[in-house]
Amino acid sequence: MSEPKRNTDPAKLAKVADAIAADLMQSDNWGKPSSLAPKMQDIDTHQFGIAIHTSDGNTVSAGKADEAFTIQSISKVFSLTLALEMFGEKVWDRVGKEPSGDPYNSIVDLERHEGIPRNPFINPGALVINDMLHKATRNDDGKTNVRDLVNALLDGEEVGIDDEVAQSEGGSNFANRAMANLSKHFGNFEHDVDDVLSDYVQQCAITMSCKQLARAGRYLMVERADPDDEDALERARRVRRINALMLTCGQYDGSGEFAYRVGLPAKSGVGGGILAVVPNTASVCVWAPGLDDYGNSLLGTEALARLSEKMDWSVFGSLSR
Ligand code: GLU
Repeated sequence: MSEPKRNTDPAKLAKVADAIAADLMQSDNWGKPSSLAPKMQDIDTHQFGIAIHTSDGNTVSAGKADEAFTIQSISKVFSLTLALEMFGEKVWDRVGKEPSGDPYNSIVDLERHEGIPRNPFINPGALVINDMLHKATRNDDGKTNVRDLVNALLDGEEVGIDDEVAQSEGGSNFANRAMANLSKHFGNFEHDVDDVLSDYVQQCAITMSCKQLARAGRYLMVERADPDDEDALERARRVRRINALMLTCGQYDGSGEFAYRVGLPAKSGVGGGILAVVPNTASVCVWAPGLDDYGNSLLGTEALARLSEKMDWSVFGSLSR
């Protein structure tokens, strides 16, 4: 049985997005800002934005959808994309595909698994992915670093970097350095730890708005591929795999709860953004800088739960189609 199309009516979407934004602005609990950098700690948490880019090419937004924030761990989706494009399945010799059940910056599991991080979306895994990308070259003229990839995904529009956030994180990055060193100790880290950390910190400090992230995430929608076009099929397979990891590992140790409430593949960052994918249907970004206890945007998660429910977008089945 073929799956009926999900609703992408822009008028309905605009109504839903406006209602979510208006309603969430009345919340009493906005969560706590990230303590990653002083600048992030001082942010006004009473802010919310949402942007939705549909497979028909429509963009709908509400709230502060043009406000730029640091993408932080959302960048790990883009670095994984590059690594899979360049190294294919070999990526999985060095990084696992399992949910961690630990916070994003936890080191404990790394020793148990002899330097092989549980998945590419927690810091130890992202650092190993960055080690693979560091100095990597390719002969197909494709991108090799996250900022260039993101600029290309935005059709050449240049994204910024928040140097202040990058510098304050760079200075206090002791846990990340320890993780990379432990992987190196087990022979799973090739390059100089500080050089790789510098790439990582720069990509985390990329600044983008909800509108830009939703646009950049269009490639995650999985497009129907011509069965005779092996390159297109491989791209589609790769996107499905990235979505699988976003669903199971994208919200740190809150991934199960998020799948239960929202039912969509998504990746969060401690800057308060969440990039979510509705396969074949839409790329969505929400932003609210107050975080929950897992480090995920508190109201961003709530917004996605409401959007998924109102549009009947859960990947786990439809209530109306
Ligand atoms: N740059 C942050 C760190 O490495 C990213 C954390 C996140 O968004 O999960 O700690």
